[in-house]
Amino acid sequence: MGNSTNGLGLSEEMISRIVTACRALAANGCDTGIGGHVSLRSEGEEALWINAFDRTLGEVSPNDVMKLDFDGNLLEGNRFVSYGWEFHAGIYGQRHDVNCIVHTHSFWVCALASLARPLKMRHNLCTLFYKDQVMSPDDHFESIGRVIGDSSTVLIPWHGGITVGRSLPRAAALHVTLDQMARLDVTLEGSDAPELPEEARLPLRRLIDEKSGYLEQTWDLMVRQAAGYVHPHSEGTAEHTRKPTAAASVF
Ligand SMILES: [Zn+2]
Repeated sequence: MGNSTNGLGLSEEMISRIVTACRALAANGCDTGIGGHVSLRSEGEEALWINAFDRTLGEVSPNDVMKLDFDGNLLEGNRFVSYGWEFHAGIYGQRHDVNCIVHTHSFWVCALASLARPLKMRHNLCTLFYKDQVMSPDDHFESIGRVIGDSSTVLIPWHGGITVGRSLPRAAALHVTLDQMARLDVTLEGSDAPELPEEARLPLRRLIDEKSGYLEQTWDLMVRQAAGYVHPHSEGTAEHTRKPTAAASVF
């Protein structure tokens, strides 16, 4: 393992990036209690970095990030792991273009998912999900792996959402944008608010994503938000020595 350009070792950098993402997601209202995870592929090996189960996203500190292999064995850290690691490992194994996965139970993403339909195109930022979102019947990788294809977003009714990306900035910024667009969409449910014309969607997506770098800019904003985010229980980091076991259900 080499050193990163910011002076941190590679492990420390991966941990730091996950902590930043978790706090930024919390700062954007995606922190809804226990559950939800951010993972990063460990480059060049069948392993990933992921936050522990027993802290909310807003509470995550460097001690709450672990490294697992794709069989779920702990390589670094010794904490309780959500059984949700299984779909992270599955997606990394299937999608070699994906290096980051974000999963939350954000209220608005859950509300949208529980309508059991994809996001409607009711805002120009919704085009970031145009022909790039799928519904999974449940949270097992067996189901997710069948439907994800090359999409970046998975909605799971009665559960939450997943965004994936080639980079942490893209997956995390996409998740926050999904939350915002889900709020808009659910709020308009039952109205006759029209969707964007079909022919406008792809050009808008290209403008927002490829030309404007919206997701990368949003990630920069999220980093600033994470720096200023203080969780009310962030000082309560006692020793966490429980042996990791599989949770009873996938969170
Ligand atoms: Zn979950």
